[in-house]
Amino acid sequence: MVRDARSAVVKNELLDIASMFPHKFDDNGRCEMLMEDNSCMVYEDRPLICNVKKVHERFFSEVKQEDFFKANEDVCKKLQEENNFTV
Ligand code: SF4
Repeated sequence: MVRDARSAVVKNELLDIASMFPHKFDDNGRCEMLMEDNSCMVYEDRPLICNVKKVHERFFSEVKQEDFFKANEDVCKKLQEENNFTV
């Protein structure tokens, strides 16, 4: 129960961090910083939300890494669905 409640809090906090994402997406959900070879144009300076390990270390280190990664995946799917992204 406590774990479920914490998971919900983590997901909401992740959505807050994701809302600060500075780049645009095309209609399919492809980031404008993604190059033809699928590498990131700004990889070394990518937004925090793009670095899942760093977000975990910096803000959610008390959460087991596997639980955090699962919460992150759930948030990604939610954002994809809400925005009708296909990629
Ligand atoms: S790592 Fe982030 S900034 Fe870079 S292409 Fe992917 S979504 Fe865009």
